[in-house]
Amino acid sequence: MNQPSTRYWEIFFEVFESLPRQGPGNRACAERALDLCRDLPRSPAVLDLGCGVGGQTLHLAELIGSGSIVAIDSHAPSIERLRAVVAARGLAQRIDAIVGDMASPQQPRGSFDLIWSEGALYNLGLRNALRICHDLLHPGGYLAFTDPVWRKDNPPPAIKASFEIEYPTMGRLEDDLAAIRDGGFDLAGHFTLPDEAWWEDFYTPMEARIAELRDQYSGDFAASAVLEQIAEEPRMHRLHCDFYAYEFFVARRPLPQNRGRPT
Ligand code: SAH
Repeated sequence: MNQPSTRYWEIFFEVFESLPRQGPGNRACAERALDLCRDLPRSPAVLDLGCGVGGQTLHLAELIGSGSIVAIDSHAPSIERLRAVVAARGLAQRIDAIVGDMASPQQPRGSFDLIWSEGALYNLGLRNALRICHDLLHPGGYLAFTDPVWRKDNPPPAIKASFEIEYPTMGRLEDDLAAIRDGGFDLAGHFTLPDEAWWEDFYTPMEARIAELRDQYSGDFAASAVLEQIAEEPRMHRLHCDFYAYEFFVARRPLPQNRGRPT
């Protein structure tokens, strides 16, 4: 496949940066995943990896009520946008949004009570990402993340091709559960994102934004072609979403075994 052009990325970011989030997920799902994190400290130290513009970071800050969140993304304009919202809402004491690479997050090992990551870990390859997260959590800490999984064999070629570019090692639910276990985590629970979590804060605003930009770029052939390419994703989802899903997983780094004392 040809490499996407500079123009492609310009238009891509013009669409994506303006959305409330850059992947599927919503507040209700975050709340459900957080409920699976039992015995979190009252003011947990949280790390949000691949936070995008921070849709879920802001939900988490609200849902947790106290504690601190370090939110990391490699795309600087998303972090700038999150910082502006954090400042406007008076959350600067609680949310520290930084530009960084989650492959080497430059955070102290064993220091987090909770690592959150929606729709981002797959960029590192799940098993590699799990290793990094295990190292950053202290024993007893939780990892809550979403990951795309295949639900059926033989997806239509267009779906297969698009995930092959995005996430070539994408597996089925059982593959992710095995990766979690092999990564040294205990599973606390998992659930499939409902369809509204794809639309509310993601595809509905994306289609609205595409419509707005179609008008703006009506005489610009190259820009219009990119917009049509991006519009394929929600269109495909409408037709074929039964072939894949986003699964929310909550896993825990085990506490050290209580070896007991000799009597
Ligand atoms: N969690 C957000 C964004 C998901 S999109 C949401 O659910 O809305 C995935 C995000 O991961 C993008 O913002 C992208 O910039 C970021 N990302 C991809 N690779 C990264 C890396 N190596 N380090 C940090 N962020 C990365």
